[in-house]
Amino acid sequence: MKPVYAHVDRAACIACGLCQMLAPKLFEYDQEGIASYCPDENTGTVPLTGEQLIDFKLAYRRCPTGAIQRSEQPFTQA
Ligand code: SF4
Repeated sequence: MKPVYAHVDRAACIACGLCQMLAPKLFEYDQEGIASYCPDENTGTVPLTGEQLIDFKLAYRRCPTGAIQRSEQPFTQA
């Protein structure tokens, strides 16, 4: 299985709260409710485990703005 890396495009997040509800171990919010992927501090550099991937997919598919991103390569930070 190819690795999956996760990252939240915080500029695209509308603070709806859905991802934390669906995957509470994977997403956290700042004081304004903007999400980040918490297992690797939103760097997108640590691949998800199989267990994390199950919850991640739920949130990834339901995010209304596409702010939750996935890649088979590590994300590089701008
Ligand atoms: S589901 Fe998407 S828009 Fe909603 S809080 Fe999570 S990242 Fe932000």
